[in-house]
Amino acid sequence: MKTIGLIGGMSWESTVTYYQIINETIKKELGGLHSAKILLYSVDFAEIEKCQADGDWNKSGEILGNAAKNLEKAGADYIVICTNTMHKVVPQIQKKISIPIIHIAEATAEKLKENKIRKVALLGTKYTMTQDFYKEKLIEAGIEVLIPCKNDIEIVNDVIYNELCLGVISEDSKKEYLRIIDELSMKGAEGVILGCTEIGLLIKQNDTILPVFDTTQIHAYEAAIHAISKKLPSM
Ligand code: GLU
Repeated sequence: MKTIGLIGGMSWESTVTYYQIINETIKKELGGLHSAKILLYSVDFAEIEKCQADGDWNKSGEILGNAAKNLEKAGADYIVICTNTMHKVVPQIQKKISIPIIHIAEATAEKLKENKIRKVALLGTKYTMTQDFYKEKLIEAGIEVLIPCKNDIEIVNDVIYNELCLGVISEDSKKEYLRIIDELSMKGAEGVILGCTEIGLLIKQNDTILPVFDTTQIHAYEAAIHAISKKLPSM
């Protein structure tokens, strides 16, 4: 079994879910007392969030790149970054290591293609929804991406940083998210990407008739399956 190098803590609320899904997947696949070989480098999210707010992506890339380097040194076979937003600095991280990174947006695009989704709603941080680094992976896969209107982008983003990353699950916020999902569905979205690793704590498939693609579940499952498959993820 290969060793998974997780970069977590962004926020730790969702890193817990990664740990659980990866181990549950290994248990299901191998049975008995099998569990995943995991190295976890959990960062201080306050430092990373400050870099985001300051627009200092280079500094956050340095921090995460050093974390990845340490995981490689400790014996990780590949890296899994437990956040959508920080995939913005994947090119910078990849330069520092010689092991592959399993990309969350690529894994999600694969899943969408499997489900024949051509037009999808994307919810995530304002960086993920409005910048190109994430959407381009979906567009390259031939998928059209819909994001909420300006005001709703702020609502989705505020709930992530002021509630979900702090472990606060609010019924009112859930209603707002479901309203936004409904509006995007009316604009033609055939599915919705929970493109922030904490949104799955608030929204479940049972809450909406629109097919839900939870990036935490997709990414963590992919991470686990690679540990027991013969081929390594491509670089
Ligand atoms: N976990 C979130 C994500 O998937 C947001 C936190 C962050 O900015 O990294 O994007």
